[in-house]
Amino acid sequence: MSKNIQTVRGMHDILPAETAAWQRLEQILRGLMHAYGYQEIRLPLLEKTELFSRSIGEVTDIVEKEMYTFEDRNGDSLSLRPEGTAGCVRAGIQHGILHNQIQRLWYMGTMYRHERPQKGRYREFRQLGVEVFGLPGPDVDAEMILLGVRLWRQLGLSDLRLELNSIGSAEERLRYRDGLVKYFTAHRKLLDQDSLERLERNPLRILDSKNPAMQQIIADAPPFSDCLGSESLSHLDGVRAILDQAGVEYTINPKLVRGLDYYNLTVFEWKTTALGAQDTVCAGGRFDGLVEQLGGSATPAIGFAIGLERLLSVMQLQDKQETYAPDACLLITGQVSAAIGMQLTEMIRDALPHRSIVYHCGSASLKSQLKRADRSGAGFALIVGDEEQQAATITVKFLREDRAQNTISRAELANFLENEINRANGRK
Ligand code: ATP
Ligand code: MG
Repeated sequence: MSKNIQTVRGMHDILPAETAAWQRLEQILRGLMHAYGYQEIRLPLLEKTELFSRSIGEVTDIVEKEMYTFEDRNGDSLSLRPEGTAGCVRAGIQHGILHNQIQRLWYMGTMYRHERPQKGRYREFRQLGVEVFGLPGPDVDAEMILLGVRLWRQLGLSDLRLELNSIGSAEERLRYRDGLVKYFTAHRKLLDQDSLERLERNPLRILDSKNPAMQQIIADAPPFSDCLGSESLSHLDGVRAILDQAGVEYTINPKLVRGLDYYNLTVFEWKTTALGAQDTVCAGGRFDGLVEQLGGSATPAIGFAIGLERLLSVMQLQDKQETYAPDACLLITGQVSAAIGMQLTEMIRDALPHRSIVYHCGSASLKSQLKRADRSGAGFALIVGDEEQQAATITVKFLREDRAQNTISRAELANFLENEINRANGRK
């Protein structure tokens, strides 16, 4: 017998039991974006490979090892997007919506990276990406961070810590790079294989190493601040002044760099203590050079991305997740026809458009219908039998309360049910 086909390694189905939590999170994220005046942009999952190598950088983990790249039937090299910024900038340039304009944009969707799957690290995962174009900051840098603060508060999460750094201008990074190469070359013996390769090709990446054995030598490396000029320092001070005024706590992490080449000045990460090694829930920074690098006119920009699986894991650990249950189930018994049952359910849905009413399909005894309704988590069973049909009533049975059932006229049912649902929800 052939084996059943399974998902691709590192990719996951999101099952019905989990979608309520996803939907609630997505709804909150959409509301948050609206509250800050950001507009949604929807982008293809596939782009030309060149887009990513030209933006993320040839010598980065993503481009070197993690992309799903293939030739399509025309022989064009295409890649599944490993992140959203490159595609967003491409679209902005292609449609002329960046030049001399301010754009506050967001997108949500799957990203693909061929990494070693482990908790919090998958090959298909979801991000909310947020990008602002046309504002040189530092005020907008702080806005991005305040947006995060508000989100964690809305989700009731208290353990996310903010790390902030400036990685300066391209010239400052070159100067810093020289110092790093000197430092790491002097400590060559302590470097792992990955870092030795990075030392040759992209030494800043060493600071981004996840290898625990590398952490001490990284901690002792020279800090970026040594190489920052007055403009970069005052930009960082500008961000800090707003955060301080708003009472936002943060640590300056002078070794914080990002895994992609296009960043400059402000970079930041929100980290949690709840997830072990995969501790970064949200990461971002300024990328003032990217639009020009991809062929547009020079446009300041900043963005961040939230890893939604990681965010949901934190919420789950703190028991902040939602589950779905219908509000009520309609059951028929006796001689009542499915046509009548279905019609009554439609009427209730007309009257209560925001409630979830499930019709019992199929034939079964009242007892087993009630069992099924109970198992669904519904609060109420609405029963229509011969007597109810005769008298134009519906019997409401309370599935979550020890309470005598109630027979209500059809005309009053919607009001009655709405009140009872509200009362029950208030009790939760
Ligand atoms: P990490 O350091 O954890 O590898 P990264 O620097 O590669 O992250 P970014 O490219 O900045 O991550 O992506 C932003 C966010 O997306 C991360 O902070 C994380 O929450 C999430 N993320 C990145 N890669 C994965 C993945 N393979 N699986 C799940 N979430 C991911
Ligand atoms: Mg990574």
